[in-house]
Amino acid sequence: MVTLDDLPLRDDLRGQKPYGAPQAPLPVALNVNENTHPIPAEVADDIAESVAKAVSGLNRYPDREFAELREGFASYLGHGLAADQIWAANGSNEVLQHVLQAFAGPGRSAFGFAPTYSMYSLLVRGVGSTWIAGERGARFELEPGDAARQVREADPDVVFLCAPNNPTGTRLPLDVVEAVYEAARGIVIVDEAYVEFAGDEQPSAITLLPGRERLLVSRTMSKAFAFAGARVGYLAADPAVVDALRLVRLPYHLSAVTQAAASAALRHSETMLRTVSDIVVQRDRISATLEALGYDPYPSASNFVLFGGVDDPADTWRRLYDRGVLVRDIGIPGHLRVTAGTEAETTAFLDALAALRDA
Ligand SMILES: *Cc1c(COP(=O)(O)O)cnc(C)c1O
Repeated sequence: MVTLDDLPLRDDLRGQKPYGAPQAPLPVALNVNENTHPIPAEVADDIAESVAKAVSGLNRYPDREFAELREGFASYLGHGLAADQIWAANGSNEVLQHVLQAFAGPGRSAFGFAPTYSMYSLLVRGVGSTWIAGERGARFELEPGDAARQVREADPDVVFLCAPNNPTGTRLPLDVVEAVYEAARGIVIVDEAYVEFAGDEQPSAITLLPGRERLLVSRTMSKAFAFAGARVGYLAADPAVVDALRLVRLPYHLSAVTQAAASAALRHSETMLRTVSDIVVQRDRISATLEALGYDPYPSASNFVLFGGVDDPADTWRRLYDRGVLVRDIGIPGHLRVTAGTEAETTAFLDALAALRDA
């Protein structure tokens, strides 16, 4: 049997593991922070109609500059943003990859405060850059002075700030963004994948964009927006940054089907985001119940909860799996992460966990 070792693979990819959150067909899947509420029927119908219209034109390449979609994101984000400050791609993972291709690359480095989103280091290695992991406080918090000091010492070409942070749920005060920006020589990207769940706890770094041409704010339709399957992420930045990303994207990277679906979904943004408050209620119920069960949940400004006090995470993960509940073992000793689902899914998780304790 041929293995990777038999192939002329890049040396720096040898021994690497691909992103691998399990995709198991379990009844209660709470492992990748999706919005588990299905898309409302009236919105699904309108999206289907828009996609159907796009289909008859699929003989032609799509609008390479996705003008309508960029207008849609600019007006959705507000803050006086214009379409030339918007970029989008197939998931914010691809947006982040474009940023790294343009501003990192071989011989350069990128930095993030660990533990953080596991895709950062994979994307960084994928473009031939070095990943540098910084440190967080005892409860995974960041403080402006210390964060700036770490960035100054590492002197990276790109800094990732995840706000709120995945997998810990930790909010990121804006004074940390300001301090890191001042300390950094290179690009600072604030990943706001979960910001819609944070309310007042996590003001958007979009307010900091004016006058900071190295600051980028990325978002996704995969989480609060309940559109993970469509693969659409976007960012806001100086128009010159957007020009830089054009140098590395593949031509026509956003298909006509994707553009039509995303623009239609954006027209219904209020409806698409209607489940956010329910999810926040379930998140807070998870935290309170975990605490009552004797676990140690971390404060979360997102749609998931990281909790410590798990003696054997791999064993607990497996026994929840056997009860039809999929959570995430993110590799932090003594911890697991769970997504806030519908009320019924959340109840199924909490009941299964309580049953394990009593077993
Ligand atoms: C889920 C997630 C994303 C979104 O990725 P997509 O490619 O847009 O689906 C981005 N950043 C973080 C921190 C995430 O957890």
